[in-house]
Amino acid sequence: MPRAGPPRYRPAMSFAPIRPPADAPPVRINLYSDTQTRPTPAMKAAMMEAELGDEQHGDDPTVWALTDRMAALLGKEAAIFLPSGTMCNVIAILTNCRKGDEVLAHETSHILHSEGGTHAALTGVQILPLKGPGGQFTADDVRAAIRPKTRYAPPQQMLEVEQTANIGGGTVWPLAQLNAVAAVAKEQGWATHMDGARLMNACVAVGVSPAEMVAGWDSVWLDFTKGLGAPLGAVLAGSKDFIGQAWRWKQRLGGSMRQGGICAAACLYSLDHHVERLADDHANARALARGLRQLPGVVVQEPETNLVFFDINATGVDFDRFVGQLRAQGIMISGLGGRVRACTHLDVTAPMIDEALTAIRGALAAA
Ligand SMILES: *Cc1c(COP(=O)(O)O)cnc(C)c1O
Repeated sequence: MPRAGPPRYRPAMSFAPIRPPADAPPVRINLYSDTQTRPTPAMKAAMMEAELGDEQHGDDPTVWALTDRMAALLGKEAAIFLPSGTMCNVIAILTNCRKGDEVLAHETSHILHSEGGTHAALTGVQILPLKGPGGQFTADDVRAAIRPKTRYAPPQQMLEVEQTANIGGGTVWPLAQLNAVAAVAKEQGWATHMDGARLMNACVAVGVSPAEMVAGWDSVWLDFTKGLGAPLGAVLAGSKDFIGQAWRWKQRLGGSMRQGGICAAACLYSLDHHVERLADDHANARALARGLRQLPGVVVQEPETNLVFFDINATGVDFDRFVGQLRAQGIMISGLGGRVRACTHLDVTAPMIDEALTAIRGALAAA
């Protein structure tokens, strides 16, 4: 009798994205994510005119211009251009930690939920989830999580925060609270790392400069593909030594580019033209929240930036049906952390908010 071979590990699904059917109605109002912004004609023109070179050889002047500008903007010694925000988080952890180390982060953090298990699969750190409302925790919460320095406990090495806190509701950490949690980390000798995917939204919302906002953090990165509207790219900043080490991981992970300046030019363009206008996105988010609050059974978290989270459970409307009905009308919206998430950005105008509200009212009334 042939014996069965050893069980083979085979995931039950394909991980490839699903293409929209050819007859899907075009998306007219995209509240799904600020990652879906398209480069504007002026941004594309800036990309076409960029001076280029071999980025991984250190010869692309536009990438240098971007990293110099970002280091200055964030008040750090140096910066590195990377393809994505996820790679910024992965490289910050690889640079700061060794396998078996522990990173402290909020229980809703991107590194815990949305990076495909990278930190178990690749960086080998474990993440200690901290609790607290709005994706934030306090200095006391961090103090309560300090482990004894014994051979039994995992070595704690890094504290991570998200500014703004995405699943927390796009909330803005108050500067004093950011500094207070970073101070506890410093007392312990830990590295401090900020996931600043939407840092500019936070800075514009509360009127604090980026350098002041991140002063307590050893490393910080900004995503150019969220509300800033670039097609690709994120910049991680920190000390000269940290960025020097980060370069080795960039090379190892295949994140080194060639004529990367074509994308860096879009990032530079967005710094000149798409930062102050984030205030419009925040105003649109507040208008959407005001309208949603009029609808019976809808529970809305007051937006602080460009993310509007709301709960439709009390309306009795099935979530997938709700999303499907809106999609049929060309309106795209997402779910995150058990709630509906609507996101305002460069390609969402005030009249679109009114139209989306009418469609949402209809989709809820149809139930
Ligand atoms: C989008 C996002 C990331 C990842 O950035 P990518 O550029 O999509 O890889 C990380 N953290 C937060 C909070 C985000 O919103």
